[in-house]
Amino acid sequence: EFDLTGRLAVVTGGAAGIGRAIAEVLAEAGARVVVADRDFAAAKATASALKGHALALDVTDAEGCETAATKLAAGHGPAAILVNNAGIVQNAPSLDVALADWRRVIDVNLHGVFHTARAFGRHMVAAGTGSVVNISSICGEVTVHPQPQAAYNAAKAGVNLLTKSLAVEWAGRVRVNAIAPGYTATELTLLGRSKPEWFNTWLAGIPMGRLANPREIALAVAFLASDAASYITGTVLTVDGGYTA
Ligand code: NAD
Repeated sequence: EFDLTGRLAVVTGGAAGIGRAIAEVLAEAGARVVVADRDFAAAKATASALKGHALALDVTDAEGCETAATKLAAGHGPAAILVNNAGIVQNAPSLDVALADWRRVIDVNLHGVFHTARAFGRHMVAAGTGSVVNISSICGEVTVHPQPQAAYNAAKAGVNLLTKSLAVEWAGRVRVNAIAPGYTATELTLLGRSKPEWFNTWLAGIPMGRLANPREIALAVAFLASDAASYITGTVLTVDGGYTA
C-alpha cells in the first residue's frame, strides 16, 4: 500500500527545502514526479536528479495554474498526487507590517494552495481518484515565539480549514489532507528571515530537542499520498517533535 509506482505526483515549491525532500521520497516510492516551482532553473536541477519533469509555476498566478494543469492532464493524464508545498515567511509586527507584505504572504500560502488545488484537483476529481497533501504548519494551530508572523499564522490556519473543506467536497473521489510541520531545517528557517538568537527559543520549545530533517516531513507526506492512508481525509497530521504537545 505504500508503493507509488507509476503515479504522477506534482509538488509545488518542489525545487528546494521540504518540497525537494518530498519530491525525492515520492520518486523513491516509484512516483513520476513533476517539480513545479517559480524558480525554474532550480526545478530543472531537482527534476533531472529525480528523472522527473520540471514545471515553471507561480502558485499566485491562478490562470497559470489552470493552464499548467490542463497541459499536464493532456500530456500525461491527471495527477494522482498533488502536494501543495510552496510557501514563504515574512516576519513583521502586526502594527508595522506593510500591507503589501501581508497580502503577499496570504497570496502565496493560502490563495496559492487554493489555485493549485482547484486547477490540478479539477482533473483528479474528474478521474475520481487521487490524493492532495497540503503543507501547512504548526503555526496554523498555535503561535510560535519570538518571531511575529501573524500573516503566516493566519494563512496556515486557513490552509487547515481549506483542507477539511475540500476533503468533504471531494470525498469518495479525492482525499485531501495536510501536514503541519514544526521547525524544519531549510533555507526558510535557517537563513530566510530568521535571527540566530531565535534558535535557542525554538529548541527550548521542542521536546525532542532538535529541528526536523526535511525528509522526516516528506515521509509523512508519502504516507498520506499512498493507499496506506485510504480512509484518511480531512486530517491535519502534526509532525513537530512534540512542540505542540
Ligand atoms: P524553502 O524556502 O526552503 O523552499 C520553498 C520553495 O518554494 C522554493 O523552491 C521556492 O522557490 C518555492 N516557492 C516560493 N514561492 C513560490 C510560488 N509563489 N510559486 C511556486 N513556488 C514557490 O521553504 P521550506 O522551508 O521548504 O517550506 C516549504 C513549506 O513548508 C512552506 O509551505 C512552509 O510554510 C512549510 N513549513 C516550513 C517549516 C520550516 O520550518 N521550514 C515549518 C512548517 C511549515
